[in-house]
Amino acid sequence: MPAPSSCRYCGIGHSDHFERWTTRAGWHQWTPPTQQQIKDRMLARRFARPTPG
Ligand SMILES: [Zn+2]
Repeated sequence: MPAPSSCRYCGIGHSDHFERWTTRAGWHQWTPPTQQQIKDRMLARRFARPTPG
């Protein structure tokens, strides 16, 4: 589950990001998420359940 402030494109935190490749964004640097993404991630974390295993 990505942190609310992690990258807009790949969900990796700023300190761990460097350059990353995703199919959506290609090579990119850490990009701040939108306010909507932050809200969605906070809600997802609130309701997330531990996965077995
Ligand atoms: Zn990224």
